[in-house]
This record gives sequence, C-alpha cells and structure tokens, in this order.
Amino acid sequence: MQGDSSDQITENNTKGNDGSKQDQNENNETQSDQRKEVPQNDQISQSSDKVVDHSKQDSVSVVGNPTAITVMVNKSNALPKGYRPNDLVRPKVKFTFGSQQLDKALMRAEAADALERMFNQASSNGIQLYAASGFRSYETQEYLFNREIEQVGRQKAELAVAKPGTSEHQTGLTMDISAASMNYTLDESFEYKPEGKWLAEHAHEYGFILRYPKGKENITKYQFEPWHFRYVGKEIATEIYHKGITLEEYFQNKKGI
Ligand SMILES: [Zn+2]
Repeated sequence: MQGDSSDQITENNTKGNDGSKQDQNENNETQSDQRKEVPQNDQISQSSDKVVDHSKQDSVSVVGNPTAITVMVNKSNALPKGYRPNDLVRPKVKFTFGSQQLDKALMRAEAADALERMFNQASSNGIQLYAASGFRSYETQEYLFNREIEQVGRQKAELAVAKPGTSEHQTGLTMDISAASMNYTLDESFEYKPEGKWLAEHAHEYGFILRYPKGKENITKYQFEPWHFRYVGKEIATEIYHKGITLEEYFQNKKGI
C-alpha cells in the first residue's frame, strides 16, 4: 500500500483551521481536516446553550466491533491501535488530489461502492463532487499527534489534533467531500454551496450521514463539518436523517428501547 507515510506529510500551519488549503498542492499529503476534527470546547460552549461535560473527556474506551459498518468512533470510543480495514479500495470518483495513490483515497469496499453511486447521481443532477480525504491510518494520526506535542506541548496538542484511534477516518467509512466552488478546500461555507446542499439532502439515500451537524456540537464534541460524511448503511442513515439526530443519539435511543 502506497502513500501516507509520514515523510509525505508536509509541515502544516500551526494556526489551525486552514489545513484544507494544503490539498491544492498535489505533492502534499496533508490531513486536510485534522485540525478541525477536534473538540474545541470553548467554541462549543459559545455555539450552544448546553454546557460541555468536562469530567468525562479523558476516558477513552476501545471499541469491540472495529469492523462493523455501524461502529461508533468518537472522543470517548477509539479504534484499536494499528487497526486497518482489510477491504480498502479506491472508489472510482474524482479526487481533489487527482490520481495520486494515497491512503486518503481509500474507503472500505461497501462504502466506496455507495460513494460511487452517490457521486454519479449527483453528477446526473449537475452537481460535481470531489473526494478529499477518506482513510487515515492509526500510524498517521499518531505521527501527527506526536509531532504536535513536540511543537506545542501535550495540552495544546490534545486540543488541536485528534488522539490516535479517535479519528473516524480510521474506520475507512468516512469521506470528506469538496467541490470546485470551494476551490477544493474544506470549510463551513460548503453548507451554502449547491454541492453541500445536495449532499445534506441526499447523502442518506446512499447510506451516508452528515456526521457532525450544526447544533449538535455538545453531543458529537466536534464543530459543524458540512463536508464530512460517514457511511452507516441506508437504513440507519435514513432514520438518522429523518429524525435529525446524530450517530451518538441513534445508539442512545436504541439502548433505551
Ligand atoms: Zn473528515
């Protein structure tokens, strides 16, 4: 498997939130949203009237079902160290980084198939989508995390970069999606672009959910990410879409039945 070795990861900025610009450079293998997909508690508190529960944020369990399509990975539930899906393939879609053979071009087979169908249907509707970042290995996340610790210390690093095992990209079931109208970057304005609107409305029909919705920051512990889509299968995605809930709430509700 080529790509995503640490020496391909170029130096990122230290300001955060503009890592996505790196994707325009085809020689870079940066993690376009690594700095966004971290809990930013201060911002969460500002954007919601709920209070973040800081007491539970340090306990991380390792999930027992890493290969399940429904696996829930978040700040409290990590994938096993070194877990790498054994059915990763490259979906036949357009990528923001062209034809480069990189880990981030990969998804698990079932998710890749659904992504292809979603992109094809979007294209039929005049919506041209570009895949920006899919699979990310434990080792890559570990490298990024450790590098950040060296640069800014552990406390700041934990706020800026997801801990190894806690990035949903390691599941191989996630894809960050962009468009020409975004200049192939990832940021919140995607919500207002035709491509972002189309995805928000139709992704569930292909088994994908908008994983970090606006207004649910206290539950997901992530900022709103209109570009980050997670495959969970059509049935669950449709239920989550119609109920306007998160994956966390979906499982919480199931437990209550
Ligand atoms: Zn993402």
